[in-house]
Amino acid sequence: MREVRIRDTLTGELRPLEGDGEVGIYACGPTVYSRIHIGNARPFVVFSLFACFLRSEGYRPKLVVNVTDINDKIYVAARAAGKPSGEFAAEMKQAYCEDTDRLGLGRPDAEPLATETVAGIVSLIQELVDSGHAYESGGDVYFRVRSFGPYGKLSNRRPEDMDQGEDAGSASLKEERLDFALWKAHKPDEDTSWDSPWGPGRPAWHIECSVMAEQELGVTFAIHGGGSDLVFPHHENEIAQSEAAGRPFAKVWMHNGMIEMSDAKMSKSEGNIFQLSEALDRYGREAVVAYLISGHYRQPLAFGAEQMDEAVARVERLRNFFRDKALGAPVGGSAGKQRGGPGDPPTGARDGGARRLEAFKDALADDFNTPRALAEVFELVGEANRGEVDGGEAAQAVAEMLELVGLSTLTQPGEGVEADAEARQLMEEREEARAAKDFAKADELRDRLSELGWTVRDSADGPQLVPKA
Ligand SMILES: [Zn+2]
Repeated sequence: MREVRIRDTLTGELRPLEGDGEVGIYACGPTVYSRIHIGNARPFVVFSLFACFLRSEGYRPKLVVNVTDINDKIYVAARAAGKPSGEFAAEMKQAYCEDTDRLGLGRPDAEPLATETVAGIVSLIQELVDSGHAYESGGDVYFRVRSFGPYGKLSNRRPEDMDQGEDAGSASLKEERLDFALWKAHKPDEDTSWDSPWGPGRPAWHIECSVMAEQELGVTFAIHGGGSDLVFPHHENEIAQSEAAGRPFAKVWMHNGMIEMSDAKMSKSEGNIFQLSEALDRYGREAVVAYLISGHYRQPLAFGAEQMDEAVARVERLRNFFRDKALGAPVGGSAGKQRGGPGDPPTGARDGGARRLEAFKDALADDFNTPRALAEVFELVGEANRGEVDGGEAAQAVAEMLELVGLSTLTQPGEGVEADAEARQLMEEREEARAAKDFAKADELRDRLSELGWTVRDSADGPQLVPKA
């Protein structure tokens, strides 16, 4: 079991995982008011693969990714869609699961819903009211920020620079501008509400996560994760609520950087390209996963046609490596044939695969450095293609590396399944619809292809039909 270290947002330090191997991870999941976009997929992929790596090292991770299904944005979007908010949120939750299932990384160990956590939320809010950390006002309940001394420690902000981003209507109900909502009184245009000691209403967003984390992982756990856009106010407020109520809460804070659109033209001309489902249709599961781990998780990651084309090319290079091997082409060759110069380590060729595999795992253990790990994969593929290392051993090591980053399907290149006439016809119609910018029709045709078991993938030779994973 390697020592695994993560850069902690709270202290800025590289912190080793403590304890006996149990690793509770809580990563903030989506608010289900629309289909998820490629940016939402980044934390899903990073934390799923991180948990997978920990498991492979002998740790016992439990990954919790919540679903926020009570939220202002859901009421607004449901009204626009002309549906009851509960029904709308359930549909969007289903779509989120379908979209992320297609990433092929499995489900988190637990996916709690805010709607199923309301009793626990009311009880934590009551504790905070009883201890003077929160107060009722006009049917709302607010957290009294000045009552929690360390407030601001995660985001390193001064109180005067903090804006809770809450609606202007609540300003007159707050003792201080800095306070934030724990409970919101029922409003006439909201079609759901829950009973509470403060009257009918619903939980505010931040308190949902404090309670779901505790219910799934206990009062203290190893890692709290999420996008860096959640550091303030969401995570700052989670700390305040939980620690003010005497819970030690998360030991390490692990934040992924944002996806930055680098290609304005692409977003305008392609409509909904940044939805995860669309990226999966266009580029395939492997390229999307490879793209999302191409940069270090803490750094921002540019997204555009250029980045995705690069990801497709990298994935193709790996697929070809295994395809060549399956076809009996020489991968590698006789071990060490180009070695043996003065000063070369005598064992360099034979243990090349094992050495790179160790370096790959070391990179993942060192603040989950996926770009450094992937560099080991491509170095080894290059060495094998040039015959510098034993081909069989290299292929085995590459396969093991790819397994750890969710790309093991690349080791079993398909036999080139031919699409039938009906599927080819639908694909042509879809291309025409896209050319005419009729994205609704294009989506409908994609769904019909999907029902027939096909995914359309763009390649250098134009769109291709590939069997759905
Ligand atoms: Zn959260």
